[in-house]
Amino acid sequence: MTQNTPAASPDKPLTAQQTPAELPPAASAANCDALPAGTLSVAQAQQRILAPLTPVAGSECLNLRAALGRILTHDVIANFAVPPHRNASMDGYAFAYDQAAAALTPGLKVCGTSFAGRPLQGRVPAGACVRIMTGAVVPTDCDTVVMQENTQRAGELIRINSLPARGANVRHPGDDMQPGDTVLHAGRKLNAADLGLLAALGTSEVTVRRRPCVAFFSTGDELKSIGETLGSGDIYDSNRYTLHAMLQQLDVDIIDLGVVRDTAPAVEQAFYSASQRADVLITSGGVSVGDADFVTATLAKLGEVNFWKMAMKPGKPLAHGKLGDCLFFGLPGNPVSVMATFLLFARPAILTLRGEVVTTPPEYVATCTEALYKAVGRKEYQRGICQQDANGQWQVKSTGQQESHLLRSMSQANCFIVLERESANLAAGSTVSIMPFAGLL
Ligand code: AMP
Ligand code: MG
Repeated sequence: MTQNTPAASPDKPLTAQQTPAELPPAASAANCDALPAGTLSVAQAQQRILAPLTPVAGSECLNLRAALGRILTHDVIANFAVPPHRNASMDGYAFAYDQAAAALTPGLKVCGTSFAGRPLQGRVPAGACVRIMTGAVVPTDCDTVVMQENTQRAGELIRINSLPARGANVRHPGDDMQPGDTVLHAGRKLNAADLGLLAALGTSEVTVRRRPCVAFFSTGDELKSIGETLGSGDIYDSNRYTLHAMLQQLDVDIIDLGVVRDTAPAVEQAFYSASQRADVLITSGGVSVGDADFVTATLAKLGEVNFWKMAMKPGKPLAHGKLGDCLFFGLPGNPVSVMATFLLFARPAILTLRGEVVTTPPEYVATCTEALYKAVGRKEYQRGICQQDANGQWQVKSTGQQESHLLRSMSQANCFIVLERESANLAAGSTVSIMPFAGLL
């Protein structure tokens, strides 16, 4: 039988119709661990980038509403009990459980009402109960609340149909927070619930870590900004928009330094300007070994540089280093490579500078519904479309062509399909990892 070899290439995934038997032979997984000199795995690069980093110094005091997503610099200790008083968890009647027999028959006389914020004044005599609303103070003479639905009126009396347990429907002081409790710890990223909790303690302002400042620019003589006319060989600069948007997700201060021409003085000037103002500088393009690639050489002249070939796809070249105190990432120019390397390397570093604990995006196990083309050797971040099936299991398929200039593949995708270096072609039904884009892009 003639083998029908598909016209697949590393950048051309196989179609759903192609069976595993049709897949081209994959290279052996042997020796995949041995990377050529100067080449790093994704995990090695992440480790080298993150290991020396500590959160930025400096804090600011913010109004509670401005503090969402910010990192707390100190523990928060409750200075009073929340709730501060014993209160009802139901609308109903408060009574003393010792009066239970009378409450069943003939009933208890209503001697007053306790509203939320307007407690009953005075005592509750024997044979009496109190009309009470949710959140209202339970009078000292009462210990139990019966819900309204389990009672009936008999003239002036309230009769209980079904007796609750002693102490039912009563919430106690400090149920939520006791004085002295550490309710939030330093380093906490404040969420909506945390802000509510601070408000419940009457806190109007909170001290949080300062936001890191991230500057970025694009390099390339072919790049035009939106609004300019495209000349022969020109393209519009899209990287500054993807980078800006991904930075916005991180809640940092952002400086857009525009497009920088492919000359050593222009790149040098931009480096200088950024290093004076920012904690991090991110550039795109100009890190390869082309004649117009000035980024790495300029960084070597002005600061410290590591140039790594990454065993990943997309995004092979990556420059990393420092310009004085400014952390530097020289990302490749291709639009998909920029996004992938930003998410895998720059984003975790920026989150670390913000003071966050979890910095790498979560991955989940999924089943690929179509065959995937993959050559052994580099870890691939293929663009995928994932969804959960009726059982909650993740299913994923490729967006199609995977070349790194195809920005539409990122736009169509909602996840990366993460394929390890040693992985070869995968048949439909294989188990893979996915990294959903939610919260990243
Ligand atoms: P480079 O890394 O500078 O060699 O660029 C690699 C590819 O990415 C080239 O095709 C560039 O035209 C393209 N590229 C570089 N920067 C950008 C950008 N800011 N927006 C869109 N494409 C870019
Ligand atoms: Mg370039």
